[in-house]
Amino acid sequence: MPLDLPELPPVSLQRRAVLLGAAASLGLPALHAVAANAPKRTSTPGVRPNALQVPGGIARLALGTAATRPAARQNGVPLLVLGDPIAWTALVGIPLSAEPGEARISVTEQGEARDIAYTVLAKRYAEQRLNVAPGTVDLSPEDEARYNRERAHLTTVMATFSETPPPSHDLAMRAPVAGRRSGSFGLRRVFNGQSRNPHSGMDIAAATGTPVLAPMAGRVIDTGDYFFNGGTVWLDHGGGLLTMVCHLSAIDVKPGDTVRAGEAYAAVGATGRVTGPHLHWSVMLNRAMVDPALFLI
Ligand code: ZN
Repeated sequence: MPLDLPELPPVSLQRRAVLLGAAASLGLPALHAVAANAPKRTSTPGVRPNALQVPGGIARLALGTAATRPAARQNGVPLLVLGDPIAWTALVGIPLSAEPGEARISVTEQGEARDIAYTVLAKRYAEQRLNVAPGTVDLSPEDEARYNRERAHLTTVMATFSETPPPSHDLAMRAPVAGRRSGSFGLRRVFNGQSRNPHSGMDIAAATGTPVLAPMAGRVIDTGDYFFNGGTVWLDHGGGLLTMVCHLSAIDVKPGDTVRAGEAYAAVGATGRVTGPHLHWSVMLNRAMVDPALFLI
């Protein structure tokens, strides 16, 4: 079973180190991370995502009543606001890199701006330390150039914000494939003593060719064959809620297409930097990768 490599390009490539050949020695069981001291999840019955105010989680912030949908932002990034004139709620994706402590969003209603504060609690994700032969971790200049081009492109994809929010207040998602799920979201990976990006999605074991089903209705905003991620499709669900599947063996859609919830749009594979077939699934909210498990039905 595979260990997959960063599905999102690291912010910076320290010493240009990436794991290549050494990945073959790694197995999925090692990805079973158990978070110590995990804060309790709170949820509104029947409404996803569950709130979990930790790095990689989601805050649900009550905005109160307003005749029209308030606009909410954090550090200039627009946020998903759901609800109705009786009760609006801002959903805030909390990046895995967030520091515990107080955080704020800015809400604008009829020209008036106010701040709302919330607390990000600490969560210690499991760590995976690996030592590999130094010669196996450097990117060639060609690969590094390709990687940098792709990273620039993906930055624009990830900034997608469609004004029309998802149609339902309940953002429940179905898993895009059946299969055993690793609990490795947030896993901190350290190769040869160097910290790498944490694992920012969910890995689901499935055979090559297994149909990938849209977790909720959406619009295709990007497809491609990327250095780390292999065959990849990004869906836009509205209001800054995006999902990504990667390592695909087939892609049946193109940018601009729409998919219904449960519609097959790709097939599981082992493309990109992986050692075996599985589906990597990421959920992004206001440009923060959050734990897909918070959305699962
Ligand atoms: Zn993965």
